[in-house]
Amino acid sequence: MTNINKAPVVTCPQCGKEHVWNTANRYRPFCSERCKMIDLGKWANEEYRVEQREQELSDDDHHA
Ligand SMILES: [Zn+2]
Repeated sequence: MTNINKAPVVTCPQCGKEHVWNTANRYRPFCSERCKMIDLGKWANEEYRVEQREQELSDDDHHA
């Protein structure tokens, strides 16, 4: 029970809010599902953009 007081406080990588590290939190190291989704969406968008560009570039090369 005293472990609750010793729980480390981490900073959410997305919103920068400090929150207590909780192993029950499925969204850690993010503070909430929303922050995790925002971060995932960010990565997904970047990957999508890179993929699109590569497809455009290799379109001429792979014209078989
Ligand atoms: Zn957050």
